[in-house]
Amino acid sequence: LSIRTFYTIGYTTTNVDMTPVSNNDPVKACFVVLVRNRELDGIASTIRQIEKTFNGKFGYPYVFLNDDEFTPEFIETTSALTKSQTKYGKIDHQMWGYPDHINKTYATECRNEMTKLNIPYADSESYRHMCRFQSGFFFRHPLLDEYDYYWRIEPDVDYYCDVDYDVFKFMRNNGKKYGFNIAFREFIATVPSLWDTVMDFRAENPGVANRWPNKQNSLVKFVTDNNGASYNGCHFWTNFEIASLDLWRSNDYLKLFSYLDQKGGFFYERWGDAPVHSIAASLMLRKDEFHFFNDIGYRHTAYTHCPTEPEFRDKCTCNPEVNMDFNDPMTCYPEFLRALT
Ligand code: GDP
Ligand code: MN
Repeated sequence: LSIRTFYTIGYTTTNVDMTPVSNNDPVKACFVVLVRNRELDGIASTIRQIEKTFNGKFGYPYVFLNDDEFTPEFIETTSALTKSQTKYGKIDHQMWGYPDHINKTYATECRNEMTKLNIPYADSESYRHMCRFQSGFFFRHPLLDEYDYYWRIEPDVDYYCDVDYDVFKFMRNNGKKYGFNIAFREFIATVPSLWDTVMDFRAENPGVANRWPNKQNSLVKFVTDNNGASYNGCHFWTNFEIASLDLWRSNDYLKLFSYLDQKGGFFYERWGDAPVHSIAASLMLRKDEFHFFNDIGYRHTAYTHCPTEPEFRDKCTCNPEVNMDFNDPMTCYPEFLRALT
């Protein structure tokens, strides 16, 4: 029984993609890398690991994006690390900057208030532009127009495991729309009104919400512990993300993003792209459209996912005892498993 068939039988689904699992047609996909010139060493390290464990065999292109011009040194160094195509784009002020409706004086006051609470990036303006860009714009950057799937990578992370199959074909052929490997718990003080704002959007747009899967078929139990009354902080870490661009380009998501953007929480609070993506995907997708990339061992800052099953020992260089899935106060992987049932 293929995974696809299993899920089709296991869950009541509509609109099941019947693409044969063996479809070997090329996938239009790329790595997407938002990065600053000063992070050159960090991104070089990541690219070396990506090339060694996966992309040396598959040759997917890299799209580098920046709110500033990339330096010749950045372009020469990164393009020399891969045989694949590399593309470099600047982000314009529509996609990175204050929209007209934002009150900048009030935004500054909000940052000052948040700074007293000792929250990461509480006082950073650029971090907020980054989160807004990753929430609502990267997939609309012209350099991504030709692609259907992406794998987001960041500087200074580690990729520990050899991946011998084409992950993008896996996504397409199995009807997967969102792939992750770390599920994390958010500091709620960064998103105090995000959940209620999404619920308001849903209530005000029944035409949109009626298209979304019902409670049992969606992943909503991943993001709420009390039947939708509040957000539990669970989200997929977006510093690693393999997903369908169509998900974010859909009218439903664009409408939701524009509603969120109007409410100003990217600047008056500090809404992260991870909670925004995760809440949206958990409401909009069926649970069988998510995929946990257990086989892609990964570290970002102090947090690691390392597969523990014996069959991964030859493929991975990480220590399976250093794995946050079940043993970390910040993990939301158990909530993901709960939501699948
Ligand atoms: P964290 O993972 O939430 O701690 O945030 P990071 O500092 O790692 O930023 C997330 C991603 O956005 C990384 O790929 C950074 O290189 C990138 N990034 C963050 N801020 C900026 C910025 O101001 N300009 C550019 N071009 N990239 C940024
Ligand atoms: Mn990071």
